[in-house]
Amino acid sequence: MKKRVKLTFPQQTVHMPITYRLAKDFNVAANIIRAQVTPNQVGTLVVELSGDIDQLNEAIDWLDAQGIKVSLASGEIVIDEDLCVHCGLCTGVCPTEALSLNPESFQLVFSRSRCIVCEQCIPTCPVQAISTNL
Ligand code: SF4
Ligand code: SF4
Repeated sequence: MKKRVKLTFPQQTVHMPITYRLAKDFNVAANIIRAQVTPNQVGTLVVELSGDIDQLNEAIDWLDAQGIKVSLASGEIVIDEDLCVHCGLCTGVCPTEALSLNPESFQLVFSRSRCIVCEQCIPTCPVQAISTNL
C-alpha cells in the first residue's frame, strides 16, 4: 500500500539517511515529493511511502522513535486566481518562499516545487483564495 506523509525533522536528525534506513530495515520505498530545510534548520519532507502495511506501520513507529514527526500530508495547495487580489499577505508567512509577488507586475507568483504544504498561508488570505485539493 501507499501512504503520503509529511515528515518534520528536528535539527539533530536533519542529516539522517532516512530513505536508506526505510528501504534497508523495513523494505519501504520512500518517493520524495518535496524536501525543504527551513532557515532554522528544521527539515520537512513530503514523501510517498510504499510497502507492506505492517512494515509501513513499523517504519512509521521507527520514525516516531527517532523524534521525527509524522503526519498525513495534505494535498496540493490551490490558489483561486479569480479570487486572488494580489495583496501579498500570504507571502509574509510562507517559510519556503513558494509565494512571492512579482516585483514588476505585483502579481502573486506560486512556485509549487517549493511548497511543503504547511498550510500556513491558508488562514492569512482575506478572500479565501487558498485551499488544498483534498
Ligand atoms: S502551504 Fe502555503 S505557506 Fe506553506 S509552503 Fe506552501 S505556499 Fe508556503
Ligand atoms: S493573501 Fe490571498 S488575495 Fe492576497 S496574494 Fe495571497 S492568495 Fe492572493
